[in-house]
Amino acid sequence: MLFHSTRGADKNKSFEEILMQGLASDGGLFMPDEWPQVDLNLLKKQKTFIDVAKHIVPLYTSSSFMESEVLELLDDTWHDFSNEDFAPIYKLDEEKSILELFHGPTGAFKDFGLQLAAAFFNKTLQKNNKTAVVLGATSGDTGSAAIDACKRFNAIKSFILLPDRNMSDIQRRQMTTVNSDNVFTILVDGSFDDCQDIVKQGFQERSFLKDDQYLLAVNSINWVRIIGQICYYFYASMVVNNFSKSLNFAVPTGNFGNVFACYAASKMGMPLEKIIVAVNDNNILDRFFRSNDYSRKDVYETLSPSMDISVASNFERLIYDLYAERDPEICAKLYTAFPNAPIELDEKIWMKSNDIFLSHTVRNDDTIANMRYVKNTYNYLVDPHTAVGTSAVDYLNKKLKGHTLILSTAHPAKFPDVIEEAGLELSEIPRNLSDAMQGKEYGVKMPASKDDIFKFIIKNN
Ligand SMILES: *Cc1c(COP(=O)(O)O)cnc(C)c1O
Repeated sequence: MLFHSTRGADKNKSFEEILMQGLASDGGLFMPDEWPQVDLNLLKKQKTFIDVAKHIVPLYTSSSFMESEVLELLDDTWHDFSNEDFAPIYKLDEEKSILELFHGPTGAFKDFGLQLAAAFFNKTLQKNNKTAVVLGATSGDTGSAAIDACKRFNAIKSFILLPDRNMSDIQRRQMTTVNSDNVFTILVDGSFDDCQDIVKQGFQERSFLKDDQYLLAVNSINWVRIIGQICYYFYASMVVNNFSKSLNFAVPTGNFGNVFACYAASKMGMPLEKIIVAVNDNNILDRFFRSNDYSRKDVYETLSPSMDISVASNFERLIYDLYAERDPEICAKLYTAFPNAPIELDEKIWMKSNDIFLSHTVRNDDTIANMRYVKNTYNYLVDPHTAVGTSAVDYLNKKLKGHTLILSTAHPAKFPDVIEEAGLELSEIPRNLSDAMQGKEYGVKMPASKDDIFKFIIKNN
């Protein structure tokens, strides 16, 4: 199994190459050369999440790792989950259930993808006797999941930039309270955009790296993160009905990574009814699925901050696979013009969406109202991101056939202010989150200056 870029320049890349490279050299995203097929009869006989992962992950890694190596790695990949069943399902009623993806150490679904990424980063570094610097900017859950996933590997040093303002206490503390020799959280006196600019320059200059050192990104376009997420779609389908009936999946989304993993699972053989693409006011995806309008607008701050984006980076993979039918020329043309020219597809081609996708925009008011509704009706507390999913399902209810799994992407305790605004109460706070609320903070404050920050990296690298 080899990989290529959605824009055509990179071809025949091994898993190891795309893992360490992240983004393709032409600005495109890496895709597998074909969709490997999963044997559902074999999967039906599995029990745990790890059993399932062992039938998915090796399908993508064979170009670089022996199957036995990967199986061994997977036994030790996902760690510090507070629930034995990594992704338990909570039934709301006959029509819908919640797939709880927040039991990982940082309380958001990103632990699934980033723990797998870190395990493979480390394996590759060991094999080649190299070390790596992880450099990333974060305004939310990616940073904490990346830090947590990488901190147990000495060959990786993580430098994570976060805006000193504009972040919830708990999200900041989840990063700054980590006390580890190979983790550096830098509180930048600036905005998230300032942080991102410095990271971008870092990837161009690479001046702070030692010889033979990798520079790794942890953003959501790395294919390995998608693999980690494909696993829980198969796992959930197995648990709900052993693949006997196709399910709907409602996914609160921003960058489309989690939705694309669901689409990928269906391409690999998982029975699928519909994917409900649930977004907040940053609704470029809903505008596309409703009216063929994929145009960039300014970012609004909403109650579901981890979905506040202006473009959905992983959406390029869907354009490439579904609409362009894997013609990299079409994809390259659309994306070279974007975002100056919006993406608008030929009407007939765009109609393909209807077979798979439904979408809905959930505004702040409805997010709050739905959190109350779900609590009052089912005695179940959802976080504001998950509420975007449950609210969209309520709205689209009449169009849905069969059972719906709503992905819960974060633990409600990560967003205490919104819970309070809704007049609700948290009944339990997971250990990891309460520890973060109490611990000493080790983050370093720095001005938004790339020179200062690169110097800091050199000193600590
Ligand atoms: C990152 C994140 C999302 C969005 O995930 P995508 O893969 O971009 O769709 C949704 N909810 C939470 C809590 C997140 O952290």
